[in-house]
Amino acid sequence: MLGYYILIGGIALISWLVSSKLKSKFKFYSKVHLNNGMSGAEIAEKMLADHGIRDVKVVSTPGMLSDHYNPKNKTVNLSEGVYSQRNAAAAAVAAHECGHAVQHAQAYEWLTLRSKLVPVVSVTSGMAMWVVFGGLMLGAAAGVGLGYWVAVAGLAMMGMATLFSFITLPVEYDASNRALAWLKAKNIVTQQEYKGSEDALKWAARTYLVAAIGSLATLVYWGLQVLGGRD
Ligand SMILES: [Zn+2]
Repeated sequence: MLGYYILIGGIALISWLVSSKLKSKFKFYSKVHLNNGMSGAEIAEKMLADHGIRDVKVVSTPGMLSDHYNPKNKTVNLSEGVYSQRNAAAAAVAAHECGHAVQHAQAYEWLTLRSKLVPVVSVTSGMAMWVVFGGLMLGAAAGVGLGYWVAVAGLAMMGMATLFSFITLPVEYDASNRALAWLKAKNIVTQQEYKGSEDALKWAARTYLVAAIGSLATLVYWGLQVLGGRD
C-alpha cells in the first residue's frame, strides 16, 4: 500500500507541475498581443469558414482553460478570456478547439474511436478501482475463486480508462497540428506570435501525456497486486 501512495503522490506532483507550467505559459502568451487584432472568437469563426464548416457555432463558456469542442451540439466553447481577447494564447486555443471541429467534420478515425468509448469509460472508470479493491478483499491474491475474477474485471475496466487516455493523445496532438498549420498558412499570426502559440499548445498536450502515463502506471501497479500476488 505504501508503494501505491508513493506512486499516486508522484503522479499528482508531476501533473501539478505540468499544469502550473501550462498556466504560467498561458499567462505569458496572453500578453503577446496579435498584430492583426483578431479575438479568439474571430479566429475560430475564420478557421471554421476556411474549412467549409458552417454548422458549428462558436460560443463563450465560463471558467479558465475550460475550452472544448462539443460534438453533440456542434459548438466550439471558448472560455471568456480566449473568446474576447486578442493574443497568441487565445489564438492557439481557439484554433485548437476548431481543430477538433475539423476532425469531427472529416470523421478523423481517432476522434471517432474516442467518441465511441466515452459512454463506456464514463461508467466504468469511476468504479474500476472499487471493483479491484472488492476483488482483493474477497481474496484475489490467492489467484483463484470469485475474488480473483472480480479483481480481473476491475483491471479490465481500468484498462479501458488507460486505453481511452492514450487514444486521447493522437486526437489532441492532431488538433494542435491542424491549428498550427492553419495559423501559419493563413498568416493569422506573425512568426513570433506563432512561436508563442506553438509553445502554449505543446504544454497543453503535455498535460494529456502525463494523464495517460499516470493512468498506465496505476494500471500496472494494480495489475501486479492482482496478477503477481500468487507466489
Ligand atoms: Zn483538445
